[in-house]
Amino acid sequence: MQSVAEYVDSLVCSACGAAFAPAQRHTTCSHCGKPLLVRYRIEALRGRFRPEVLPGRARSLWRYAEVLPVPPDPRWSLGEGWTPLLPQPRLGRALGLPKLYVKDESLNPGGSFKARGLAVAVAAAAARGVQQVGVASAGNAAGALALYAARLGLRAVLFLPEETPEPAVWECQIAGAEVHRVPGTIAEAGAAFEAYRQEHPDIFSVATLREPYRVEGKKTMGYELFEQLGGRLPDVILYPTGGGTGLIGMWKAFEEMEALGWIGPERPRMVAVQAAGCAPIVRAFQEGRETAAYWEDAQTIAAGLRVPKALGDFLILRVLRESQGTAVAVSDADIQAAMRRWAQTEGLLAAPEGAATLAALIQLQEAGWVHAEETVVLFNTATAHKYPAVVRQVLRQAGGPV
Ligand SMILES: *Cc1c(COP(=O)(O)O)cnc(C)c1O
Repeated sequence: MQSVAEYVDSLVCSACGAAFAPAQRHTTCSHCGKPLLVRYRIEALRGRFRPEVLPGRARSLWRYAEVLPVPPDPRWSLGEGWTPLLPQPRLGRALGLPKLYVKDESLNPGGSFKARGLAVAVAAAAARGVQQVGVASAGNAAGALALYAARLGLRAVLFLPEETPEPAVWECQIAGAEVHRVPGTIAEAGAAFEAYRQEHPDIFSVATLREPYRVEGKKTMGYELFEQLGGRLPDVILYPTGGGTGLIGMWKAFEEMEALGWIGPERPRMVAVQAAGCAPIVRAFQEGRETAAYWEDAQTIAAGLRVPKALGDFLILRVLRESQGTAVAVSDADIQAAMRRWAQTEGLLAAPEGAATLAALIQLQEAGWVHAEETVVLFNTATAHKYPAVVRQVLRQAGGPV
């Protein structure tokens, strides 16, 4: 297995700028502990890697091979990426936004967009000789890791909070991963995983932004939006933000696309959507801070948004400000209402995290923050099928069948 793709230049620290060789196994910056990002030899790609070369390529994220850190290989793909960008005419009409779309990530392997990041991260780890991978996760990252580890023949060790939705646990178990259930939140699960790794140092952690390659998988969402909108970017993107990998990744994709000459300096306004019961980024954004304080007693039905402290908080906040975007918190009740409304108006089975973006759009629209002529993209990051307990609650409240 070739370990480094042709156009990878180096790994660069997102905070202090230190550069590292990409062939080695890397976690975070060895000087300051902040996330590393992949730098490509974009000058060598300018004029050669053009949008015109894309039609007819693989219908997966590997269609962007030139700007991915590992060479594509069908042996480690499960078909991740290249999800549909669906117009939302009925919802759009009701909200006065005729150019409303959803990027429906529920069609990814395992039913969540975590597949994108883990497909690339597991391939990169395996290419560097890693044989055991692990993560503490609210559910979907663990499930995706279990699937890709199985596909590549690696051992996976997973730490899940006790309240992780059952389908994510089953996904890990049926794929043969070693599963540890931990009382408390993702913070406790993370601590348990780190303690376990002290005794098992051979387990490579693919935790959010603690290795450089999950962001690379997630950034392909930005390339796909450009391609699927016919060679332009939307005006507004609403993204359900936990660790922020996708937000940081898409922003990186836009920078690469500008360096490649595909777009100019214009950017979408990026909106981080969080749950009111765990909104560290929203609070930090409103207070004008550069980093976000730990959120005590995090609680929300949107498991993927139950992230009290993100390693990349400073990157997320920078993207929101540079893009002239914003951050919005939504209640669990509004998330549930949005799940029902989305299914009933557009047939979309949104996860609570995805439904949070619709609830946030309703708030922004009422506040006059979005305009009728703007192209707006919501992200549905997983399928409702992974949250049976939440769907049951939604039905109970609607007075429908339980
Ligand atoms: C992990 C997750 C998120 C948050 O994604 P980040 O990129 O880590 O912010 C959102 N939705 C779902 C369904 C998730 O599993």
